[in-house]
Amino acid sequence: MNKPESYVVPFSEGSADQKYLLGGKGANLAEMTRIGLPVPPGFIVTTEACRRYMAEGGSPEGLFEEVEAALTDLEEQVGRRLGDPESPLLLSVRSGAVFSMPGMMDTVLNLGAMPSTADGLAALGDEWFAQDATRRFLEMFGRVVLGVDSELIERNIDEANAAAGVETERDLTTEQLAEVVAAHRRTIADAGFELPEDPRDQLRLAIEAVFRSWNGDRARAYRRIEDIPDDLGTAVNVQMMVFGNLGDRSATGVAFTRDPATGEKVPYGDFLIGAQGEDVVAGTRRVEPLSHLETEFPALHKELLGHLDTLEAHYHDMCDIEFTIEEDKLWMLQTRVGKRSATAALRMAVEMVDEGLIDEDEAVTRIRPRQLEALLHPRFAADAPPPLTTGLAASPGAAVGKVVLSSKEAKERGLAGESVILVRPETSPEDLEGMVASAGMLTARGGLVSHAAVVARGLGKPAVCGAHELRIDGEAGTVTVGDVVIRANDIISIDGTTGQVALGEVELEIPDDDPNVDRLLSWADSRRTLHIFANADTPDDARRALAAGAEGIGLCRTEHQFLGDRLPLIQQVILSNSEDEEREALVALERSQKEDFEQLFEVMDGLRVVIRLLDPPLHEFLPDVESLHIKKALGTLTDEERRLMEVAEQLQEHDPMLGVRGIRLGILRPEVYRSQVRAIIEAAVIRVEAGGDPKPEIMLPLVGTSQELEWGVNLIHTTARAVLDKAGVEVDYTTATMIETPRAALRAKMLAPQVDAFSFGTNDLTQLTFGLSRDDVEATYIPRGLELKLLPVDPFRTLDPDGVGRLVEMAVKEGREAKPDLVTGICGEHGGDADSIHFCHRVGMNHVSCSASRLEVARLAAAHAAMEVTGPGSTA
Ligand code: PEP
Ligand code: MG
Repeated sequence: MNKPESYVVPFSEGSADQKYLLGGKGANLAEMTRIGLPVPPGFIVTTEACRRYMAEGGSPEGLFEEVEAALTDLEEQVGRRLGDPESPLLLSVRSGAVFSMPGMMDTVLNLGAMPSTADGLAALGDEWFAQDATRRFLEMFGRVVLGVDSELIERNIDEANAAAGVETERDLTTEQLAEVVAAHRRTIADAGFELPEDPRDQLRLAIEAVFRSWNGDRARAYRRIEDIPDDLGTAVNVQMMVFGNLGDRSATGVAFTRDPATGEKVPYGDFLIGAQGEDVVAGTRRVEPLSHLETEFPALHKELLGHLDTLEAHYHDMCDIEFTIEEDKLWMLQTRVGKRSATAALRMAVEMVDEGLIDEDEAVTRIRPRQLEALLHPRFAADAPPPLTTGLAASPGAAVGKVVLSSKEAKERGLAGESVILVRPETSPEDLEGMVASAGMLTARGGLVSHAAVVARGLGKPAVCGAHELRIDGEAGTVTVGDVVIRANDIISIDGTTGQVALGEVELEIPDDDPNVDRLLSWADSRRTLHIFANADTPDDARRALAAGAEGIGLCRTEHQFLGDRLPLIQQVILSNSEDEEREALVALERSQKEDFEQLFEVMDGLRVVIRLLDPPLHEFLPDVESLHIKKALGTLTDEERRLMEVAEQLQEHDPMLGVRGIRLGILRPEVYRSQVRAIIEAAVIRVEAGGDPKPEIMLPLVGTSQELEWGVNLIHTTARAVLDKAGVEVDYTTATMIETPRAALRAKMLAPQVDAFSFGTNDLTQLTFGLSRDDVEATYIPRGLELKLLPVDPFRTLDPDGVGRLVEMAVKEGREAKPDLVTGICGEHGGDADSIHFCHRVGMNHVSCSASRLEVARLAAAHAAMEVTGPGSTA
């Protein structure tokens, strides 16, 4: 590796476009400095230094000489020196990755506060402040840099608080704090660690600790969830400390240029008087709303709002900031494009277009498919019973689940498929995996910027935070609200859109259409090139799909028309002993199917409706053999059931997914297929005669050879022709084959000329390519394989680009070579998955087809694919 020009960049020399080198926080600190906002001076150790540290197993040569030079400049600039007994400079040493990873990496504040600088610090504030800064430094440095068990450190504080009879360490006297400082030093020494007395050594160690935290468990887990590459490394921001804890003319807080929960164009934030930043984020103290700042510090409030406006206009986006007031002087400690709830993201994107701040392209790229999904999430039904308590509406969506009080348990039970609500006093980064596995989160403390709220919004999970009435007793396994006691495993419901918490299972409902969704999706629609079809089996499904923007039906699974009161009809077909009997039994089924198709064509008039001939093995329509055996043993078996049992036993297969299904079923029972084709074409004829414009496409499932396809296509054309000739009407029908066996993909050239369209059945194609039975491995092997990184993605959720995807890509290409106007699409579950939609776009498919509930997400993802929006951080 060549040595870059410099590993250290002062804030005054960087800018926002250097995010990859300076990290997000560093680049933005430099940018704020550049545009004249009041930023405490400092410098950035670059991500390149961190990458070298990781590659070389130690800090790169020359790094600390550069740090020393930058530090000396900083000391000169501010007129204080690190470690100077009379005029000490204290430093904050903060991580700053390229993409924001809130709370996932380490920070050391108050570096330079030592007994040797206590007098100088006391001169800056008072003696209490000097001791407080020193204890805070020892706590962070001990935990983060030296690796002292945090419980040991907390115990010192708990003991001091208990001895003094106070609730928090803020109420300790100077002398008592000095005792805590001494106790911390003893703890560090007793644990076998050496605390360097020279703050320059401390700084070196702190920088290296931040480098190492890039590869900590929390950070790695977060990157996995957020798809952030592991090799970016973090920058380290070294900055002059300013103090929000210098008495009651000092304060610290966070602010957003707009409300991050609702998106409303009003500044939002919290602050605490006489505190440092960590106190606000930790959620351990009750914060005051930003609006109160106007009362306490009117001039600074005005100045702050001015800075917020400047930032929003500069970044063309909602920003969040951390600020500190040190003795009536306002300082900006960081800014970034702020995290937001899905509702807020959408509202801001649309309103910013109206305000002329961004254009439509930008608005579309700012909403992630996952956020849109969250917006379409349920809420408590309007007639839900009154809530037990209400907290902050921290992350929208509603969830019902069993109360679980530990993240570890939430992780285990959530991954095992249980719906659990994680209830915690507050959360910390250690809780991340439990949060990921939970259906929702409920915390007793913390505001909208607390860890739980920020993470839940990022995950798109419902969360209610700061429900102050909750008393959580982890040991007893209870949560008490007034005199109501909730026990672990009791069911509760939470609504993160309103902040309500209710006992028991509350009925949930989908929110009314948000007009912002329609506007954003109309912009997305005009940017995508993929058509979006729906998998819909009934006229009702079709209506829902149409309302959600479907441009046609990409898969109608006809077997769903054989359920309910139609079941006896198909059973008669199965039980028939001769072709005549079968034909007779099919008459009633054909009639009812024809009615279904007629309605489907009417709903989807003028749009393509792809109807798949019967696919599943016939035994799926028969009662379960075992239950019939039990009835037989009990002597309650009817004659009819005895016949069904005999046939079911005959039809039993060792491996039904690989047995008589798909076109093989049609070949063995051709009359079933003929009857379906007649029902489709006759229904279309009726629609044409009624002045409609039906566009059926008849599709053959699970084809393996071109001869099988030829057989099927012949059957379709001969049967259709007979109906059309008889009716004297023409129908614009087309044919398709599913590509869902690897062999079909490999023989695409031979299949394509025979049909109008290919539809990739990627559920079966994945199953057959991997040789994995979805039903058997989804809860067993897949999670384990993912955990051990033996599977790069869950191939049933996201199309496996390297294996299954290669077959798909090849079949699209070779199919088109053989038939240039071949239509290609996907109808497996992957059709509603954003990453898979990007893949489908890339290989040049014409459409994706997915369930009605995923259509909106598919429309947005298709637009992103066309606009080449990819990667973490590329959308808000
Ligand atoms: C598929 O296999 O992807 C498909 C759409 O068919 P089914 O899920 O009905 O087997
Ligand atoms: Mg299939």
